Amino acid sequence: MNFSSQNRTHFIHQLKNSSFDVLIIGGGITGAGIALDAASRGLKVALIDMQDFSAGTSSRSTKLIHGGLRYLKQLEFKLVAEVGKERKIIHQIAPHLTRPEPMLLPITKKGSLNKTSARLGMWIYEWLAGVKKSEWHQFLNREKTLVIEPLLSKDELLGGILFYEYRTDDARLTIEVIKESVEKGVIALNYMKAISFNYENKIISGAKVSDQLSEDVFEIKAKYVVNASGPWVDELANLEKQTVENKLLITKGVHFVVDWKKLPVKQSLYFDTHDKRMLFIIPREGKTYIGTTDTFYKGDMINPRITEEDRSYILKCVNDFFPNNKLSESDIQSAWAGLRPLISAPSKGPSEISRKDEFFESTSGLLTIAGGKLTGYRKMAQRIVDKLAEKIQKQEGKTICKCITQSIQLSGGKINEFKTFLDFVEIQKIKGVSLGLTELESETLIYRYGSNVIEIYKIVEEVKNENNELPIFLRAQVVYAVQHEMCFTISDFLIRRTGALYFNIELVKKWKASILLYMQALLPWNHELANKFDIELQKAIDEIEVLTIK
Ligand code: FAD
Repeated sequence: MNFSSQNRTHFIHQLKNSSFDVLIIGGGITGAGIALDAASRGLKVALIDMQDFSAGTSSRSTKLIHGGLRYLKQLEFKLVAEVGKERKIIHQIAPHLTRPEPMLLPITKKGSLNKTSARLGMWIYEWLAGVKKSEWHQFLNREKTLVIEPLLSKDELLGGILFYEYRTDDARLTIEVIKESVEKGVIALNYMKAISFNYENKIISGAKVSDQLSEDVFEIKAKYVVNASGPWVDELANLEKQTVENKLLITKGVHFVVDWKKLPVKQSLYFDTHDKRMLFIIPREGKTYIGTTDTFYKGDMINPRITEEDRSYILKCVNDFFPNNKLSESDIQSAWAGLRPLISAPSKGPSEISRKDEFFESTSGLLTIAGGKLTGYRKMAQRIVDKLAEKIQKQEGKTICKCITQSIQLSGGKINEFKTFLDFVEIQKIKGVSLGLTELESETLIYRYGSNVIEIYKIVEEVKNENNELPIFLRAQVVYAVQHEMCFTISDFLIRRTGALYFNIELVKKWKASILLYMQALLPWNHELANKFDIELQKAIDEIEVLTIK
């Protein structure tokens, strides 16, 4: 059965009437990774999220699969080595979502790095992270640095280092991991909130959940329960009503998007700020995005607010570095804020706290995983499922096999008959154009959906003769998102399945009414729900617009 929101009732029936080995609460990248790992080792798994999948932090990151250079500064050598290895694996299993991204680190008179320390740092980093030779850094003198990035201020510049990061789409990576887990038998459902836990002889045996779309409340039975709720892990653990210490410190990170022409960098940059932090500037899809801030946060966790201070800080950092471009509030086209679920370290500042993950087990057996990075999701999942395997062995005498996710191609990554992903891109681009799509549209679809573009092309053929003003490019994606990616609301589609609210807000404003009508015909929305979803999207647009006012 398709992973379709048209089949929601069927999946709810399965959640209500089955008994699972593991219930995972939280459908961000952490929960998604655990679901895939557990299912691929033969466990019967349910995965739920109270919002859409990835609507928490996993759609609000810098969207990089890091090599971990930043952690070198904090002397976290083990972490650098681990994320470096993980980056290679993710590139292999999801080639459509991990593109090598040359990144320039300018060395300036006022900066925190000098030429010697920067080069030494790079060598250590590349050795620890196992960076492949073709992606080793290049050291550039001042003149060469200016050739590759003419926007840099000549007076301040001493030279630069060109190294590689990998670009991704965090929300799409999460949905591809979930889709792959569903292929392996996981029952995964969004808009399903855990509201309390159930126990048998004081041992956790499942959760009571509330369907956020119908207000139906029911129980999901599971032998083991994993709390993978990111910034909400303390809130969820506290449902146990045990006196547990809070594990998390939440910091907020904000990104702003401007038109590329306003900050026309030739490639990504990682640069020093006046307060000795580092910021990214990344060109993408005709825009440039900049981030991130790192400040302690308390407040609305579902919609973390972006403040005027966040905006002033980012604008100051960019304008200090690129004084000729004079970015202003009115240049901002879009923005997002994410919350980092970090392991509490009371004496440290926001940017000094480790990005390591840890897990904890309560006396009832609830396993909580916190901290970590998008990049390390697979390894985090492995650690949790290894722990589950240990518990299963002890309690049930059953042996669970070892982790195999390093060799499972994710949904969209199945291009095995092609030598390289680029060969696949070339062939599919020709196919897309033959169906009436433009080259750019075809390329966008190929990188967004990977090998699943074949399914999208089938939908293009089915919908192309419809009498509808909405471009086929969008119609085909709406149908695919609804029928294969459990997309239920217009925000699911325009924020998390396509990233349009962040990188193409013009498209959102132009087509949102038509998309709403098109989705309404596909989904069991009544008038009230359609209205609610419309208002929800408009609120997200309005929040961004406030930030662009001078
Ligand atoms: P989340 O994605 O927040 O998922 C938790 C989910 O649990 C949510 O969807 C929530 O709705 C759900 N939930 C909560 N309570 C309940 C409940 N009661 N019932 C059901 N569901 C519930 N990492 C990188 O590797 N590269 C980067 O470039 C990068 N950049 C970052 C930039 C910023 C600004 C931030 C904030 C983080 C960044 N990270 C990056 C880190 C990375 O994004 C996070 O570590 C990761 O996304 C956390 O995922 P998660 O699944 O643990 O949490």
